[in-house]
Amino acid sequence: MPNKIISTESLKANVRGRIIERQDKDYEDARKVYNAMIDKHPLMIVQCVDTADVIHSVNFARENNITVSVKGGGHNAGGLGISDDALVIDLSPIKYTLVDPEAKTAVVGGGTTWGDVDHATHVFGLATPSGIVSTTGVGGLTLGGGIGHLTRKCGLSIDNLLSVNMVLADGSFVTASEHENEDLFWAVRGGGGNFGIVTAFTFKLYPIDILYGGPMLWELSETEEVMKWYHNLIKTAPDDLSGFFAFLTVPPGPPFPEHLHLKKMCGVVWAYTGPLEKAEDVFNPIRAFKTPALDLVGPIPQPALQSMFDPLLPPGLQWYWRADFINELPEEAIAEHIQFSKTLPTMLSQMHLYPINGAASRISNKDTAWNYRDATYAMVIVGIDSDPANKEKITTWTKQYWEALHPYSAGGAYINFMMDEGEERVKATYGDNYERLVKIKNKYDPDNFFHINQNIKPTVEEEALA
Ligand SMILES: Cc1cc2nc3c(=O)[nH]c(=O)nc-3n(C[C@H](O)[C@H](O)[C@H](O)COP(=O)(O)OP(=O)(O)OC[C@H]3O[C@@H](n4cnc5c(N)ncnc54)[C@H](O)[C@@H]3O)c2cc1C
Repeated sequence: MPNKIISTESLKANVRGRIIERQDKDYEDARKVYNAMIDKHPLMIVQCVDTADVIHSVNFARENNITVSVKGGGHNAGGLGISDDALVIDLSPIKYTLVDPEAKTAVVGGGTTWGDVDHATHVFGLATPSGIVSTTGVGGLTLGGGIGHLTRKCGLSIDNLLSVNMVLADGSFVTASEHENEDLFWAVRGGGGNFGIVTAFTFKLYPIDILYGGPMLWELSETEEVMKWYHNLIKTAPDDLSGFFAFLTVPPGPPFPEHLHLKKMCGVVWAYTGPLEKAEDVFNPIRAFKTPALDLVGPIPQPALQSMFDPLLPPGLQWYWRADFINELPEEAIAEHIQFSKTLPTMLSQMHLYPINGAASRISNKDTAWNYRDATYAMVIVGIDSDPANKEKITTWTKQYWEALHPYSAGGAYINFMMDEGEERVKATYGDNYERLVKIKNKYDPDNFFHINQNIKPTVEEEALA
């Protein structure tokens, strides 16, 4: 670990947030991220309380040639919020949600988590599309796209982003929207943290209050039938009906009945956003297809659905995941899924298929940086466990499962479900949009100051040398 001797006096004089350095007693806690597999030793962590702190931190890092990482919710499984020897710009104190119930918009601070947003919007009977776990950061999830329970109905999180306030690599502060810095706005909608630090997001809100949703599980032996039926249903379902397919192990506690505890099962976690009085009509044929072994589906407030899995997934677990976009589920792919579902290596390890073929698919791949709107699903295979001794076990299972399924995939993967998989994989994910992203990176961050992310490398330097 190189020890740069850098005086932090000027930074301390300028920022109001805490600066935590290696010698400080809180350092060990402050360097932790959600995935306990990540063990990085940054140079310092600046807990920014406002935009001024972010600007001072960016300028200080640039002037002292220190690598910067940006931490929003800290949930990135690859640990991209933190890096060895970096100055971590920790946005977690910039946490607020200002709801305008009339305009149906919310301005959200760059370090806010989705649970905070849900809390603030739900009181007005409003919601914006996010993910499926409430502790995830608004920053990373949104800038990578944002897939969740409301994607089929309202699109990705980026499809509901109206503007961002950002600090750029040169320390300047800009707003980007459809009407201002349009190129930057195009790039941040899917391009991750490559272009700058978002201190505030403005989202469109929807009158979504009580949904009809929750998990419905079937025996693993019924997977083939359930998967085929689910695929046909989702391909033609109205936008009001969403549900992600999952392989999982039933947790050993309430609300799950004892006879199902620790049983590996397949299932769908539903989210129906249509009129509640029509929900039974929609779900009668679903229930009639094959009586589920467990049916916890019913009316549920949006924040409750969004936080349903939080207790199972506290910070500090080991995580390893791999992903792909998927168009079809051919027989051969289903056969592989069946094999790997039988070998889920730990109680928390899972496979999910998130449908993206509703509202999100009616926006063109060219309209934002997010390039896989024509895929049916974003698939994620995830090995999770509390015991570091199982690190190899969950990693190996995830990689083997992914390798077996990858030949049936559409190519790239959702960047928010990727670990460190190299430049080619990032290029495959952005496809035809990659070149335009590089041009925008050249304009806004030619020195690749923001590179602790799924990196889009600028070519300005290469071009100057050529
Ligand atoms: C339990 C769990 C559940 C998840 N569920 C979903 C889901 O349902 N849907 C989904 O789409 N994804 C989901 N994800 C993936 C998630 O979107 C990514 O892990 C995302 O990177 C997390 O964002 P964060 O702000 O918490 O992460 P961080 O680790 O803080 O940051 C991740 C990256 O985003 C950048 N970043 C963060 N905030 C900002 C900002 N304000 N400005 C500029 N750059 C920023 C960071 O620099 C870094 O490169 C889940 C992850 C976990 C662990």
